[in-house]
Amino acid sequence: MKKFGEEAWEDEMSGGHVNPEFLKARDETSRRIREEFGEMVACRGRYYPDPGWEELIRKTLNAMRELDPGIRINKIVNKWGECNIFPEMNSMQRGESRDRISVLKINAREESRNICAWCGSREGVTTGPYAGSYVLTLCPVCQVKYLVRLGE
Ligand SMILES: [Zn+2]
Repeated sequence: MKKFGEEAWEDEMSGGHVNPEFLKARDETSRRIREEFGEMVACRGRYYPDPGWEELIRKTLNAMRELDPGIRINKIVNKWGECNIFPEMNSMQRGESRDRISVLKINAREESRNICAWCGSREGVTTGPYAGSYVLTLCPVCQVKYLVRLGE
């Protein structure tokens, strides 16, 4: 019986059931985002930018950086099928800027529900546990290929 949430993700990773192509795409996305944003995304927490959300993540990070050039991101994760970007709130961000950073975070989360976390398609995207697995937002094509069973 698989659990939902991050523990299940690790179960899937260690069991090798997630399509390696997805993990490879995520690694490449991760590398590109680190190259572009450097120290800003030297996350202290989990850092798994899903490939289909790369443009959304890039757009959100750029907007956050405009509001606070020194902003740091603590985590970028898929949670309940949504893209969660956790900026570090600090004493330099006051009032309106702080609120606007929070809005950007919420907007990214909501927009990600309409974008396939693997390929970036907006066609027929749904959020759910697929094949009893981790909760992801995927298009119909990626739903089929997301999980691979070993030895079959
Ligand atoms: Zn897709």
